[in-house]
Amino acid sequence: MVTRLAASELGAILSSHFVDQSKLPVLPIMLYLSLGAKELVMNTSEPPKKVVRNLPDLAALVGLSKRRGFVFQSSEIYGGLGSCWDYGPLGSLLKLNVKKAWWNAMTRRADIVGLDASILMHPTVWKASGHVDGFTDPLVDCKDCKTRFRSDNTDSYLKDKKCPQCGSKNLSEPRLFNLMFKTHMGPVEDAGSVVYLRPETAQGHFVNFLNCQQSSRYKIPFGIAAIGKSFRNEITPGNFIFRTREFEQMEMQYFVKPGTDAGFFDTWKETRWNFYLKYKLKAENLRFHPHGPTELAHYAKAAVDVQYNFPMGFSELEGIHNRGDFDLTQHMKFSGKSLEYFDEAGKEKFIPYVIETAVGCDRLVLAFLCDAYREEVTLDEAGKEDVRVVLGLHPDLAPIKVGILPLSKKEELSSVGLRLRDQLAEDFDVNYDEAASIGKRYRRQDEIGTPFCVTVDFETANDQAVTVRHRDKMTQDRVNLTQLNRYVFENLKDFYK
Ligand SMILES: [Zn+2]
Repeated sequence: MVTRLAASELGAILSSHFVDQSKLPVLPIMLYLSLGAKELVMNTSEPPKKVVRNLPDLAALVGLSKRRGFVFQSSEIYGGLGSCWDYGPLGSLLKLNVKKAWWNAMTRRADIVGLDASILMHPTVWKASGHVDGFTDPLVDCKDCKTRFRSDNTDSYLKDKKCPQCGSKNLSEPRLFNLMFKTHMGPVEDAGSVVYLRPETAQGHFVNFLNCQQSSRYKIPFGIAAIGKSFRNEITPGNFIFRTREFEQMEMQYFVKPGTDAGFFDTWKETRWNFYLKYKLKAENLRFHPHGPTELAHYAKAAVDVQYNFPMGFSELEGIHNRGDFDLTQHMKFSGKSLEYFDEAGKEKFIPYVIETAVGCDRLVLAFLCDAYREEVTLDEAGKEDVRVVLGLHPDLAPIKVGILPLSKKEELSSVGLRLRDQLAEDFDVNYDEAASIGKRYRRQDEIGTPFCVTVDFETANDQAVTVRHRDKMTQDRVNLTQLNRYVFENLKDFYK
């Protein structure tokens, strides 16, 4: 006969018997022994945990990322390539999950469709958008130390016309440097074959505006969402995956009737803020930064950034812009094709205004990693103080959902464990680990943010059940093997309840 004690019941028993809460850590074990109940299956929990430290700095994260397989330097064995990074076994899963979360939030609405446009576009697109003429940074060369820097955001230059590296005043005049990557289409490398790697995904949405609207038969207001790579030849990339020359964007353009744009701008600010809270970025690490008149891009009527408090300070995570009818008007002018929308209800034609939400996927991954990192003091199996590193990622984002940890490498346990691995892998990304002590293996899973660990033990053969441990609460449940997938599915959904 198996008795189940809920955590709350156990807590009630404990606190009614023991006034001194500091002794609580060892009590579940004492209770277990004193009841002499070998078959007692209960929710046990490790002691209350104390967060001692959040992310110390970016270097700590870069180290963890490499050690655990989140992010590697690109072409590392050749000395690396500037500002290019590769997402490893866990990083690729994490990034995929971040994209899924954003994609679902956008396209599972009744008013937004998806799009996957090509990276190479007709070169005139970039004339119409203003990128050929206007997408430039002013660049200055130091003739002494050969440092190249942007003159518009370098303090030593703005103040005294000095090189930021060596202090020399022997500098070139600022010249405008276009940030678009250029390449050639076809076998002949002449001016007529120049194409660009897109510097933003948005133009694909504008040129496909009527294709999307008419094929989906959506009425305005409606939106187009896309995820894809963009390229900018930044002069000063940096801060790990925050600013890179090749990056992934998650952009949505929402087409509205002129006059309703200000209201939708506010609605989207709120919607996007709530997205970050839903996926557990801490509110105190988020803020809005409205653009003043001097910061506004040439196309924007209004703009606000969602900023995140990265280790290097508050920086842009997402831009929300009211682009007016700038883009559609430009494409009408350059293509000679109408992109007007006919409103059946009002029997009128108009060029829609666009509210844009644009997130850098890589910097969002960085924000989730920074935000989730914590070090906690807890007790190990022997009751000794122990620091565990936890990536408290939202379970939808965590790369691995379940770690399967047989208590020993003995065949009777590993055979069950491997079978369970296959059973769980039908529904979830899982990880099987039988090396090192169970405590160490728990810590390994904690460090990569795995929400649940399943332990196969010597009782499993008798009761056809395993112990499942919750990453954050560190509570344990005994769960029947046949119920395990359903248990994980439901508890991933209710992870924070
Ligand atoms: Zn210099």
